[in-house]
Parts: sequence; structure tokens; C-alpha cells
Amino acid sequence: MQNYRRLLQLLLPYKAALFAGSIFLIAASAMNLAIPLFVRNLVDVVMLEKNLDRLNNITIAIGFLFLLQLICQTIHNYLFDVTEKRVIADFRKNLFNHLHTMSISFFVKRRTGEIVSRMTNDVTTIENIITDLPATVLQQSIRLMGGVIIIIYMNWKLTFMILVLAPVLVLFARTFGRKMKRLSTEIQDKLAVSTTILEENISCYQVVKSFVRDKLELERFSNAIEDSFQSARSRVIISSFFGPTIGFIALSTSLILLWYGGREVITGGISPGELIAFILYAAIIAGPMGSFARMYTRLQEGLGASKRLFELLDMHGEVRDLPDARPMPSIAGRVEFDGVRFHYRKEQEILKDISLTIEPGQMIALVGPSGAGKSTLVQLLHRFYDPVGGEIRVDGIPLKTVKLSSYWDQIGIVPQETILFGGTIEMNIRYAKEGVTQNEVIEAAKAANAHTFIMECPEQYQTIVGEKGIRLSAGQRQRIAIARAILKDPRILILDEATSALDNESEVLIQEALERLMKDRTSLVIAHRLSTTHNAKRILVMDEGRIVETGTHEELMKKGGLYHRLYTLKSLKLEEKTTPMQPEDL
Ligand code: ATP
Repeated sequence: MQNYRRLLQLLLPYKAALFAGSIFLIAASAMNLAIPLFVRNLVDVVMLEKNLDRLNNITIAIGFLFLLQLICQTIHNYLFDVTEKRVIADFRKNLFNHLHTMSISFFVKRRTGEIVSRMTNDVTTIENIITDLPATVLQQSIRLMGGVIIIIYMNWKLTFMILVLAPVLVLFARTFGRKMKRLSTEIQDKLAVSTTILEENISCYQVVKSFVRDKLELERFSNAIEDSFQSARSRVIISSFFGPTIGFIALSTSLILLWYGGREVITGGISPGELIAFILYAAIIAGPMGSFARMYTRLQEGLGASKRLFELLDMHGEVRDLPDARPMPSIAGRVEFDGVRFHYRKEQEILKDISLTIEPGQMIALVGPSGAGKSTLVQLLHRFYDPVGGEIRVDGIPLKTVKLSSYWDQIGIVPQETILFGGTIEMNIRYAKEGVTQNEVIEAAKAANAHTFIMECPEQYQTIVGEKGIRLSAGQRQRIAIARAILKDPRILILDEATSALDNESEVLIQEALERLMKDRTSLVIAHRLSTTHNAKRILVMDEGRIVETGTHEELMKKGGLYHRLYTLKSLKLEEKTTPMQPEDL
């Protein structure tokens, strides 16, 4: 219920509309309750008084009530439904915004499909209960209580019969409601599994095709869907039995009433009009009982979904602004790692006591065998993660004390695999900075050696690159990424050199573009190319989470250690053919 209270709090900004809607709802319900009383008079006038004038008047009055009820119900529906849509739209935006506050570790630990399913299926489920439920509770309570009070007043013996059956209904609803809730959660969870498989199949389409794994994937997807179908079927079995059974109990009650009431009319206990009114009230009272039962199951479903969504909203990114975080002043570019330690999981320390200093404008190359911790180190400098020990400082300011966005504004990253949005080339370059001119975009593309190939594309800068840039070659994607970084103009640059071998021409173009990009910036490069290590001011050699050697190319070669071994390995290959350095070498 705590979750439901939190859901209702979302309605607070719209309390005026909801209050007005409730007034119209109360009015409509009151009219609904009054109609059987008029019908009673109408029947008695027809059967006992046989008075035509009164019959006409009562008919007009009932018609008028119908019309008024229609107007009130319409206004209520509009006010409540629009509020519901508004609240859900806000909630979706809020969730999306919250996702952006999460740290990278959140996304690494979860599959995309799971997150997408939460944000679509679960939000749709809570939509069912947010305003509809309170409105139904209000409306049906008025009908139930009003109806019971009126019929007690009319004939308490008949009322007693109706009320005996009420607890049976409540008990029935509770038992089945719990079962439905469990099954609904199960269905959502199983659907999330199939959404994940679907999402993976779309993004890994090429892998699936090239390994001819269609059948295996179809089987995986079919199993997940069948699994959710089984739960859905169990739920259908219960729900298809549940509604009609409640209807049956309600109709049986009417039948008993008709029988008993008919006896009362024959013996003169009540008038025929009263019997008709009684039957109408029984229907009005049975309605709320049935809908309370239905609402109970919807409430259970909605609560399951809201629990998962609030769990998501209550999660906080591990890397976030401290309460007293200050904006990062303009960076000169001095980077210091001071006894930095880091692990993803406690059992496996990835960075062990890393200390290093990079002076403003220096280019430092990071080399080492695969798994040494190079990517982890640069992720820490980017503050995607915070160290578990030691401190990272930029211009002497501990990174933990600054506002993330003010730091990220001044640091750039060119990853190994370029990630592009599915839109145009121009949109992808522009993404670097708000409010740049067309000219600046072109200048950046020229500096990145991308302009020429862009002009050869069918629609030049307006060419659509396809999802994740699939319609461009790896080298072209990289040059777009470089143009983006040039446009951003960061003071500190992180570069994870691509390991994929490019043809010689692309290689030269990229090398040139990178040199322009790194000029006068503090750059930390995970180097896979020999030319990069030759040009570096200093090379840091990493192994098993430590910096084991540091120096220039010449110094490290003389030393005859790990760098020498890695380099010799590469040189041997170089004699055979001139390809860029491979990741397994450095
Ligand atoms: P490569 O040159 O192959 O990219 P690297 O030197 O960059 O390797 P890292 O990617 O930093 O190495 O990985 C260092 C260690 O951390 C590896 O053992 C890896 O398995 C582990 N690791 C990396 N990312 C995560 C993660 N998100 N969760 C858990 N462990 C991770």
C-alpha cells in the first residue's frame, strides 16, 4: 500500500481537476441512486393509481435525470482520464530522466530488454489503477452505501438477504485476487525475458546470421514466449471463471429477491413499485460488489508493477554529485592518480595502487596485455566509476568533489567502437555541442578528414547513417567520432585506439585526424599502434592492474622488460607485413 500511496502522490499537482471531477462523479452517482425511487412511483402510478398526468410528469422527471447524469458522468470521465494520461506521461518522462542519473554499472549489469520492458509494460499496468481505481471506489462506495441505506429503509428483511451474500463475494475476490497478482508478475517477468531476446537478436543480427543460429534463437524466443503463454493461460483460466461466477452470485441474489419480494407483494407487505425499485437497487448494489472484486485484482497487478518501478526510481547511481559538489573550473589539464585502487567485484582487484601524473598538454600512451586494466583506468579518469581507494585529481581538484556535468563538459572520449545515432551525419557531429553553426560542423569534419567522404555520400551531411551507423565503414564511423570530439574541444582527451585493422589509406587519414585532435590537449591513449607509442611523451606499461614500467619508447626498449617483449613481438610481425598494431600484442 505504501507504493500505492506513492502513486497517488503523483496526482497531487492535479488535485483541483480531480476535486472537480469527484464532485461531478458524486452528483452522477446520487442521480443514479434516485432513479429507482422515481421508477417505484411510476410503477405504482401505473398499477395502482392509473393516473396519466402523473405518469407523464414522472417520465419527464426520469428523462431529465438521465440527461443530467449523462452530463455529469461525461465531465467526470474527461477530467479524470485526462489527468491520468498527464500523470502517466509525466511519470514516463521522470523515469527516462532517472535512467540518465544512473551510473554506467547499472547498464552493464542489466540487459536492455529488461529495462525497456519495465518502462513500457509496467507503466501501462499502473496506468490502469492510477485514477480509474479511486474513481471506481468513490462511485461504487456511494452506490453501495446509498443503495443499502435506501433498501434498509424500504424493507430490512429483503436487505438482509443481499448482505448475507456479500462476505462470500469478498472472500472469493481476495483468494483469486492473490493468485492473479502472482500470475501477473510472473507473466511480466517472462515477457521481459522474451523482450530481451528480441532486443539482442536485433542488435546482434549479423552474429546470429553468420553463425547460422536462427534456429537456436527461434527456439530460445519460442521457449520464453511459451513460458509466458503458460502463465497467461493459467491467469485466463482463473479470470474467465472469476467474473462470471461473481455475476452468477449476483443474479442468484436477484432471483431469490424476486421470489421473496413477489410473495411480499401478494401478501400486501410492499407495493409492486417497491418490488421493482428493490430489484433495481439489488442490481445497483451487485455492481459495486462485482467491480470491487475486479478492482482488487487490478490493484494487485498495478501494485506489482509499481513496486518494480519504484525500485527503479529508488536506485541511485553510484557515481553522482555529492551534496556539496562544486562546478569544475576551466581545466588546464593536469591529471593525477594518487594510490588509486578499484574493483568491480570485491574478490577481484582490478587496479592496484595506481599513481601517475600527466602534465597539461601531454600525450601519454597506455599499453599492456589484454585484461591488464587499461580500459578500467580510463573509465575512472572519465568518472564513469569512482575509485574504491585513493584519489584522482584534475588540476589538483579531487574529481569526487566536482559536479559531474561540469567535468564531463570538459573531457572527451573517442572509444574503440564508435557509437552513432541512427539520424544524419550532421546530427551525429552536432551532438558534441549545443548551438554550433553549420560552418563549425564542416570545419570539424575537415579536421577529422571526414569532409571528403561525407561530400561523396548521396545526401552529403544529411545522409542517414542507419542504426548505430551501420551504413558507414568502421573507418568512416571513427572519423565522425573524431569530428565530434574536435567540435567538443575538450581539455582532456581519452582515446581508445581501434584495434580493427583498417586499410592503409584509412589508417593514414585517421592517424592524421587524431594527431590534430590530440594537439595541445592532455591525452591518455590506449595505444594499439606503434606510431602512437613512438609519439607519446611517456608510455605507461600496465600488467595485472599495476603500472609496471614507464618511460619513453627508447628507455623502455633499453630496459628489456614487458614493453620490449610486446614490441619485439610486434616488430617481428612488422617485418612480415605492415599492419597496425593488434590488441593481443600490446
Ligand atoms: P583489453 O586490452 O582487452 O581491452 P584492458 O587492459 O582494457 O583489456 P579492462 O577492460 O580494464 O582491461 O579489464 C580489466 C579486468 O576487469 C578484466 O579482468 C575484466 O574481466 C574485468 N572487467 C572489465 N569490465 C568489467 C565489468 N564491468 N564488471 C566486471 N569485471 C570487469
